[in-house]
Amino acid sequence: MTLKSVTIVIPIYNERDNIYVLKNAIHKIFAGLHYKYNILYVDDGSSDGTPGILAKVSQFDDRVEYVSLSRNFGHQAALKAGLDMADGDCVISMDGDMQHPASVLPLLLKQWEEGYDIVNTVRLEDKKLSYFKRKSSRLFYKLINHLSEFEIRAGSADFRLVSRKALDVICSLNEHDPFFRGLVSWIGFSQTHVVYQADERSFGSSKYSFKKMVQLAVRGITSFSIRPLYVAIYPGILISLMSSLYIPYALYSYFAGEAQPGWTSLIVTVSFFSGLQLMLLGIIGMYLGKVTNEVKKRPVYIIKESSLTKIANFI
Ligand code: UDP
Ligand code: MG
Repeated sequence: MTLKSVTIVIPIYNERDNIYVLKNAIHKIFAGLHYKYNILYVDDGSSDGTPGILAKVSQFDDRVEYVSLSRNFGHQAALKAGLDMADGDCVISMDGDMQHPASVLPLLLKQWEEGYDIVNTVRLEDKKLSYFKRKSSRLFYKLINHLSEFEIRAGSADFRLVSRKALDVICSLNEHDPFFRGLVSWIGFSQTHVVYQADERSFGSSKYSFKKMVQLAVRGITSFSIRPLYVAIYPGILISLMSSLYIPYALYSYFAGEAQPGWTSLIVTVSFFSGLQLMLLGIIGMYLGKVTNEVKKRPVYIIKESSLTKIANFI
């Protein structure tokens, strides 16, 4: 019986001290499982000597491979590099700081064996995480779920298993600015999730600076919602409605001789044009939204399975 293969993709940025600890934890877990596996570290332009360590580790440990990016491109880009290069029958992505416990891997694989193409993970809300991290994460998921048409579960991270079939679809999307949490939810297929308790970071400190967190949030929202583009249409309609009531009043005051000189023309033009401008901005936003969606070139549909060979062969 040939064993199925698993690639574990781990983007790392200045995680020198975690490389050995994590790979050993993974070896320990796989020792009790029946899979072929390899670990693919993606060095995201680290400046702490990570590439040298990875070169050494991969030389002595034939299950460890690595790629080193030419500079720091960010977590999502590093993840994309790893996913593009992964060759397993399924691929697991996880962080390189031990916060994603290796002990969850058998649970992911179990769900895959049961037929799921995507096994997400959901982090239990952790009191150990900083108040700011918990609040900002909750706010982000609330916002993105409100704005986009599909659900990204709060507490999800890029810690998941993806089958070869689903991964080929994700890689074929080839988006310039990928937001994997959104893309994975968007592609469909059979998905499930396992719940886990995040461990403490093993060494070092978070590589997600405030700036990088904001960038990720902006990327998530702009990749999956065009609503902010045409939101101006709503106040535009409201102001137009209000001005349609206010303008007759202003004209009445003018003809009744109650208005100050200049007030009527000012109020009529300001209220009329501000409503019109906002509405036109919203309309431009709608077209821009269509252009944005076209540029992304996401497929109109994705086929999960079919029996189409019969039609192709004209049986
Ligand atoms: N990471 C990366 N490039 C970056 C920032 C982070 O590859 O520019 C990696 C990092 O080394 C870790 C993972 O992404 O393996 C998640 O980052 P981190 O643990 O610092 O984020 P947090 O858990 O604090 O949200
Ligand atoms: Mg972390």
